[in-house]
Amino acid sequence: MLPYGRQSISESDVEAVAEVLRGDWLTTGPAVGRFEEELARWTGGVPCVSVTSGTAALHVAYVAAGVRTGDEVVTSPLTFVATAATAALLGARVVFADVQPDTGNLDPEAVAALVTPRTRAVTAVDYAGHPADYDELRALCDPAGAVLVADAAHSIGSAYKDRPVGSLADLTTFSFFPTKTVTTAEGGAVAAADPEMLRRALRFRNHGLVRDPAEQREPDTGGWHQEVHEFGLNYRLPDVLCALGLAQLGRLGRFRERRSELVARYDALLRDVPGLTLPVQRAYVRPSRHLYPVRILAGRRREVYDRMRAAGIGVQVNYLPAYLHPVFGDLGYRRGLCPRAEEFYAEELSLPLFADLTDAQQDRVVDTLAGILG
Ligand SMILES: *Cc1c(COP(=O)(O)O)cnc(C)c1O
Repeated sequence: MLPYGRQSISESDVEAVAEVLRGDWLTTGPAVGRFEEELARWTGGVPCVSVTSGTAALHVAYVAAGVRTGDEVVTSPLTFVATAATAALLGARVVFADVQPDTGNLDPEAVAALVTPRTRAVTAVDYAGHPADYDELRALCDPAGAVLVADAAHSIGSAYKDRPVGSLADLTTFSFFPTKTVTTAEGGAVAAADPEMLRRALRFRNHGLVRDPAEQREPDTGGWHQEVHEFGLNYRLPDVLCALGLAQLGRLGRFRERRSELVARYDALLRDVPGLTLPVQRAYVRPSRHLYPVRILAGRRREVYDRMRAAGIGVQVNYLPAYLHPVFGDLGYRRGLCPRAEEFYAEELSLPLFADLTDAQQDRVVDTLAGILG
């Protein structure tokens, strides 16, 4: 089965991991800081904290944003459930705002109607790698005292008005799962410009441990002494995986180029296929696409999904609106809450897109799809 996404692992990636395995550090060693510094070159210099997954990154970001029980977090339903689940786990009420019908990104107008004094964070999702409308979202967050969060699991390497993803929100989260543009197997990161949010992120990742005597309550206890002031978790990304991430970041420029080529080929090859809408792009963004999401019209999405899979082409659907998961249903969220997200979901199909996809493989995807719809 041709997958919809997969990792690209080179011999140099393998060698980078093997080198760490032969050395002294498996967990927190020199590759962690090097990976975080290299990642910060992609976020326009905004400091980054590596963690064990994109989900951990969201959890850390909400902690850094100060999300607590009773707060509200406004976000898009057209995302992987983790964007909302991590806020709910902190006791926040998740408020879903509808998406723009064409990009599938959070609609600032919908957000404007839902921001209240209880809104602690607004989380945009750069759906498929296309950055959300950050200037408009920023203009809503700042007067409300809400923290702007970007779930950039899809959009590492993308730019919005010539500013890189990672520098657009107060907190930006990345995922390095194998289907994403850059992988560390499991892994993620949080970018935070504000020093206090950065400090909270670093601390939460490492059990909440306070090691600097200047900040301890009982600093004279002895050299071994460390204190926990607020609970944290172990979300540390190991050295072995940071070495893989470092090697992968060295290839991100080429990954982005190849993905753009493939997107341009899909755009050209699918233009005249009937029964299909192709993904749009705003004039002011330069997306590094994670997904190529087409819309299958006339109620044929399920049929096309089944027939593509039967032909050995691993298409995917991204996403079931998060509030349609039964866990949200049990909390009282109902179908119809965000009609545009539901319409998007009903038609959406993600075609294979990854750096090592060949032109011949892509031609087969196009021919199979055109054969079904033609
Ligand atoms: C993949 C993904 C996540 C979760 O990342 P993991 O690394 O799989 O935990 C969160 N949000 C979005 C939009 C994603 O695509």
